[in-house]
Amino acid sequence: MEKPSAQLAKVKSETLGLTHLALRVHTDTEYDLRDSLITLASPESVDRTMVSAAQIEETIREISLLHKAGLYLKELSYPGLTSLEVWAEWAHQLDPGKRRTAVMASPGSSTANPHWQTLLSSKWEYTGERIVQWETPIPPNEGHEMLAKMSTTFPEATMYHAGQSYLGKDIWAMDLMPEISQTHWSHMKASAFKPTVIYSARQHANEVSSTSHVLRHAELILTDPKQRSKLNKVNVVIHPFTNPDGAQIAYDLHQITPDYILHAGYLGSLGRDATSGGDADHPIYPESKVRGELWETWLPDIFLNPHGYPSHQVVQLFSEYTGLVRQGRVTERNWGFNKGWFMPGFSFIDSPDFPRHKDAAFLIRDHITSKINSNRDVFDLNQRMYARYRRYGADHDPDVFRLPMTDSVLIQMPLKGSNGSSSGSRGYNPRVTIWSGTTEAPDETAYGPYMELVAKAGLSWDEAILDYLYQGNHQIERSGSKFFGGVSLRMKRPRPPKSPINENDQ
Ligand SMILES: [Zn+2]
Repeated sequence: MEKPSAQLAKVKSETLGLTHLALRVHTDTEYDLRDSLITLASPESVDRTMVSAAQIEETIREISLLHKAGLYLKELSYPGLTSLEVWAEWAHQLDPGKRRTAVMASPGSSTANPHWQTLLSSKWEYTGERIVQWETPIPPNEGHEMLAKMSTTFPEATMYHAGQSYLGKDIWAMDLMPEISQTHWSHMKASAFKPTVIYSARQHANEVSSTSHVLRHAELILTDPKQRSKLNKVNVVIHPFTNPDGAQIAYDLHQITPDYILHAGYLGSLGRDATSGGDADHPIYPESKVRGELWETWLPDIFLNPHGYPSHQVVQLFSEYTGLVRQGRVTERNWGFNKGWFMPGFSFIDSPDFPRHKDAAFLIRDHITSKINSNRDVFDLNQRMYARYRRYGADHDPDVFRLPMTDSVLIQMPLKGSNGSSSGSRGYNPRVTIWSGTTEAPDETAYGPYMELVAKAGLSWDEAILDYLYQGNHQIERSGSKFFGGVSLRMKRPRPPKSPINENDQ
């Protein structure tokens, strides 16, 4: 069946969200012809291929009954919606005469999504103390409570439910933008007017520092006036736990054996990567959908995915010790060796179809290296680690232990840019997302002063990317045309900006 499409939405002034929504579902027939069709093909084939308007009508009726019985409350349910109409149409054109309409009353009244306010003790009050600690790894409940503290204190912070993990942990995200007083606004418009960056942390959850620096980054944006002013030009989205089940077990193990690498927390709860299946409609891991949904909601200019290391290839869940092999390549054994803070696979696009992307990527790289090197202790850690890596690795086995440096920072670059054409998948569509970055910090498993050091490196990277977007000369191009009885207005923001730097910010 084709995906349903939204055809009609009603809003009410002073009321949040939609009040009424009509979805169109294209069907093959009006009546259910299953009984006659199974004489032509197998029942499985009929069920897989043919859908009738009568079936859609009946399905909607049954989902309503399930809702009334308190079951499947999140399916076909949107907060605030007072009625949902489904048009099951068997003609190719929208045609009220060739449609059966199924109506669900109050589909939004029973929404089972939790409210973030419940994460916060009613007695909590902000008194200016630091919200995000860098002492221990941050487990999901603590990290989400930090989001709630920021959301309840600062009008620029808006926290929302973004999904759930396989083991039922809620997943939250937070938007940072100047306060919006209107009840209705559009992400698309917000992203057309201003560049947007998504920080999506902790995919591999024993790589603990990403949650710590991404949350601290949010706190500093909200509390430091110099950082706060960047929200006037950039939308920021914070997603601190891509893999909350892994983050929980990594934290539980941290309390017993804090100096182990805690590799059980690396993957999702079934021993596969927590993002596995994210492109499927109904993946086994519900958490795998969250990144794609944030991307589709915001259409960000930049999508960031900070990581850590070094235990990847050493321990494989349920397979004991697998030695120095990863993805079938022995050269991957360099991952087990500390090489400081670095960026793996810094990719860029070099194509006439995307004439400004390459320069933008190299400008971003300049921002990153200068910010990373601006912390004396991070710089010293890196040079010490790089020197050791060179002495025991690169000097002896350069095929495995390479050390390509840019401005004293290890950044692994491809020999040439890609043409951008194979980049159609989520997060990497170059017409939308001009650059996407991953980092590696030696943070398995960091706590105490060492956490402070590796999280500081990550924070510098977070800030470098925000600065790049903030300093860009983003201009909206407006055009319009007339058609019979109306006009169309078009607003477009070139990505990356046509002239890279805003002179006023220099
Ligand atoms: Zn990782």
